[in-house]
Amino acid sequence: MPLLCEVAVPVPLARAFSYEVPLALAASVRPGARVLVEFGRKKVLGVVLATSEGAAPEGVRLKPITAVVDPEPVLPPELLSFLRELSSYYFAPIGEVLRLALPAVEREDVRVLEAQGELPGTLSRVKQVGGRKIAYARPTDVVEEPGVLRGQAASVLALLRSNGEMPIARLEEKFGNARAAVKKLASLGLVVTEEREPPRDAFFVRPEPRDEPPELNEAQSAAEARIEAALAEAKSSAFLLFGVTGSGKTEVYLRAIAGCLARGRGAIVMVPEIALTPQLVARFRARFGDDLAVLHSGLSEADRHAMWKRVRTGAVRVAIGARSAIFAPVANLGLILVDEEHDGSFKQEEGVRYHARDMALLRAHRAAAVAVLGSATPSLESVHLVRQGKLTELRLPDRAHREATLPEVTTVDLRRIGPGATGNKLISLPLHRAIEKTLAAGEQVILFLNRRGFAPSVVCESCGHVATCLACSVALTFHRARGGRMRCHYCDWEGPMPAACSECRAPSLALEGLGTERLEETIAEAFPTARVARLDRDVADGAKAEAILAKMRAGEIDVLVGTQMVTKGHDLGNVTLVGVLNADAALSLPDFRASERGFQLLVQVAGRAGRRDRPGRVIIQTRNPEQPAVQFAKRHDVNAFLEHELADRAEVGYPPFSRLSLFRVDALDEEAARRAAGVIAAHAKTSPEGQSRVVEVLGPAAAPLARLRGRYRFRVLLRSKDRRALRAATAVAAAAIPELDRRVRVVVDVDPVAML
Ligand code: ADP
Ligand code: ZN
Repeated sequence: MPLLCEVAVPVPLARAFSYEVPLALAASVRPGARVLVEFGRKKVLGVVLATSEGAAPEGVRLKPITAVVDPEPVLPPELLSFLRELSSYYFAPIGEVLRLALPAVEREDVRVLEAQGELPGTLSRVKQVGGRKIAYARPTDVVEEPGVLRGQAASVLALLRSNGEMPIARLEEKFGNARAAVKKLASLGLVVTEEREPPRDAFFVRPEPRDEPPELNEAQSAAEARIEAALAEAKSSAFLLFGVTGSGKTEVYLRAIAGCLARGRGAIVMVPEIALTPQLVARFRARFGDDLAVLHSGLSEADRHAMWKRVRTGAVRVAIGARSAIFAPVANLGLILVDEEHDGSFKQEEGVRYHARDMALLRAHRAAAVAVLGSATPSLESVHLVRQGKLTELRLPDRAHREATLPEVTTVDLRRIGPGATGNKLISLPLHRAIEKTLAAGEQVILFLNRRGFAPSVVCESCGHVATCLACSVALTFHRARGGRMRCHYCDWEGPMPAACSECRAPSLALEGLGTERLEETIAEAFPTARVARLDRDVADGAKAEAILAKMRAGEIDVLVGTQMVTKGHDLGNVTLVGVLNADAALSLPDFRASERGFQLLVQVAGRAGRRDRPGRVIIQTRNPEQPAVQFAKRHDVNAFLEHELADRAEVGYPPFSRLSLFRVDALDEEAARRAAGVIAAHAKTSPEGQSRVVEVLGPAAAPLARLRGRYRFRVLLRSKDRRALRAATAVAAAAIPELDRRVRVVVDVDPVAML
């Protein structure tokens, strides 16, 4: 019997291809191994998905495999089969999914192959990509002529200006043409590039002394015992660790990992992107030493590859990272932890649009491993799974430090209560007084405002026109930095503020609203002796954010002003006042999850107050204090909120009571996009499931964000209670995509999170 094999080539093609296995290679062609194959006229590197005995179909001549690249398969069988299932679940090309799981160095071989048609030298050598040095780009003080920069060059420059220096490789993760863009920017004198040795991994710079595990409290012990028992049984099980902020969930994770390692199995720890800090990693290093793989975007390619290999070979058994850690090739996987499982950053919003929390459940299930999802404000999806008996709930009802109690929360009705001494409406009198009092007591304040920049809009006082981005249907934000510029927060366009209104030509443009830059300035003026600092994407990426938080911990900052970045898991003992400046900004988005997200945010930010012996206080300012998210947050009543919100969702038939797949359609030409969306909707409606109405087809409709980066956006939403039916209808609609106008881009988003 001849041997055949299925090969996925790392290119965006939906399917795998069949090849014949020459007798001489039969022993070494194994699933997960990379092979060299002829594809069209090129030789490409593919990954073997499966082998089978049998003959090629009548009349088909299969090409033979040219060579086997790896003596050992690069992907272990468990990971490979998980990736195949992920690819099928998300309608994502298997080649693209493999790209996510293979480190760049492995992919580099593909580039060499494509360029030269063959791989130089021996195939199994570990290549140092670009040697030990890596290339950085950094912005200069030169200001460009208006209008000379377009597309990615403009975006790359904007990113560099807000982040400072960045490795070019990191820019490439965001922008496909980053290299060309940097070259262009360098030729204009706007950036300079430099090659040098990468710094030591920031997560391992300081030595971390081993800690002494604390004695668990009763709830923690009970949770640990359940997880232990599941690990001992070695069959798959899944838990929701539902514990209030500061209840000691991390301690439970640490024990679970220890139990897993003791059984000779490996673990994956996933945390939200912004929580992946040296401080967090330090807690794991303090317990397990430095044999941890921290998978993060700051690694050079060579280091990332080395890390990947150490995990693959089992030299390191614990991998920590953001969502992409779900692809870590951990051998003999026994445990997957997802901290802050409700966090939106677990959903990848470009390329393969997977949800790492959902995939954690899937991978754990297939690997007979234990999954633990942890949160103080679990997602409705997870709560629903508990009710269906698919997740086991473990509760930590109290804060771990016995003295620490949950903070007292009050609301300020912005419609009725006026400003304090600053005269700014968003710094109400009660908030102003509370800040005064806290500072006088030598304690710290966090002020949360989810608007970056100085002023969220630039408005003409004579005609009322609001300055909007030329490429996107959103208002421009005014930033004070670098002499004052208007910026689009969606496409990163940036330009000077004009002298007059673009509509009526009157020279009467005014800055409206309050952003974090202005808040920082206003607070610093109002409290001249206080040390005020700001934490948002404009001042800080990972390392800098950590430095600001370190100062906060050291008591060198009195008031910390910031966006979402101030809300995440930081354990800051001396913070006794948290102010939420405008709760409505988060609660009024056109998204069925707006209320859930707003509530989570309120609880998270409130959880920053009073974590030790001193009682904390939270002030939530809103124009609608009666709304449920605010009311339940005020009472710290997560359960009641969940009940309320679940009832609402059930009534309107949105997830978790149904499933969605979203077709996102966009094009430079509005009509083309509209028409394409129409075709997709029509296909969905004529599917058997569409006709029987088991699957509802909503749309085509313009997306809430109707235009982005110059492209008009439409969408078609499929919704059903029946997952299989939804899949079938989605497949029918997706089959229409290849027939559409070439200028239109369509992506399928299964279980969408971002609804804009
Ligand atoms: P969570 O992850 O639930 O927000 P943490 O794990 O950060 O909570 O715990 C909050 C604080 O309580 C930390 O300072 C932690 O060291 C401490 N802690 C956790 N468990 C215990 C325990 N059993 N005894 C004493 N302190 C504990
Ligand atoms: Zn824009």
